[in-house]
Amino acid sequence: MYTRVHGLWFEDGGLIIKAESTIFRISKCLLAARSTFFSDMIILPPLPESDMELIDGIPVVTLPDPAKDVEVFLRAIIDSSYFMPPPKPVQLSEVLGILLLSHKYDVGYLFCRALEHLSMQFYFPLAKAYRSSKNGIEAPCHIKFSSTQPNTSELFHIIKICKMVGADWILPMAYYYAYYHIQQADLLSMTSEDDEYHSRLCLSASRNLILSNLKMFYFLKTTVDDCLDSRQCNLVRQGIWSYMLTAVQEPLDVAPLDSFREDFWEQVWLDENSSQDEDEPSAFCVHCYHATKRTHDHLLRDCWDRLPFFFCLPGWSDLEVVRQTVFGESTSGNSDEV
Ligand SMILES: [Zn+2]
Repeated sequence: MYTRVHGLWFEDGGLIIKAESTIFRISKCLLAARSTFFSDMIILPPLPESDMELIDGIPVVTLPDPAKDVEVFLRAIIDSSYFMPPPKPVQLSEVLGILLLSHKYDVGYLFCRALEHLSMQFYFPLAKAYRSSKNGIEAPCHIKFSSTQPNTSELFHIIKICKMVGADWILPMAYYYAYYHIQQADLLSMTSEDDEYHSRLCLSASRNLILSNLKMFYFLKTTVDDCLDSRQCNLVRQGIWSYMLTAVQEPLDVAPLDSFREDFWEQVWLDENSSQDEDEPSAFCVHCYHATKRTHDHLLRDCWDRLPFFFCLPGWSDLEVVRQTVFGESTSGNSDEV
């Protein structure tokens, strides 16, 4: 009638946890030592035997949670090597199941560990993320999704659970991912009470994200007084513009934080020992290179700084205070690191 889970059924366990049609037999004391919810429950006077469900004479506690979440949660409590801190690879379903139930049943160290995993994927300093990978700011990290990139359901799961547990610092990038990974028609069709608030928030950021993307192209308008060869540098600007219009199907849909990454700047840099085609130059003079890159960096930083506001969230420094409070860290340090 019930399914017992391998590795979570101990003959000497004094408590049976039931979730859906799955049962787990574990140590009451171990669970109470890890979870204040269960320790409070266990010290309550027991129910009269007639009201108590028993399996093999062992009391049963029924949880309303999905069995798959309870399974990963109990595994993480019982097996200390099962849910290691990042960068150890983990499945997204494990992270979210453990995050949700460690919050609900008050297991502080697992709650923080699950948030550390999500923070590594969705919360990072701009400069480090942008410069360290040529694969884009969205390069997959150590969290394993069902495919190489998170799908709609996974992204909305992340967003809803982080919102529920107060991990707001993860939300700007989670919304940003959702906006660029989910078709607008799909966002518009998310009308369930649970999803609609978040899908509308993503859609309402559209104007600001497109504007940021447009602004990002302004770096091509940078005028440089001490340009060494204005004819050549203007040809480079025109070449980049033509490339953008032909190579990218929908230039306005380019994710602003992902435009003009490090490999682009390598292409427009002219090594002093190299030469280039005079009629079709690809690299700026040294002064235009630095001035143009400075403008781009400024625009990128501006977009990053405003990203949380696009999704009606507080700024990064306030989000960092929330993160430090949850992790019990001092908030007196540099909160502008992200
Ligand atoms: Zn120049």
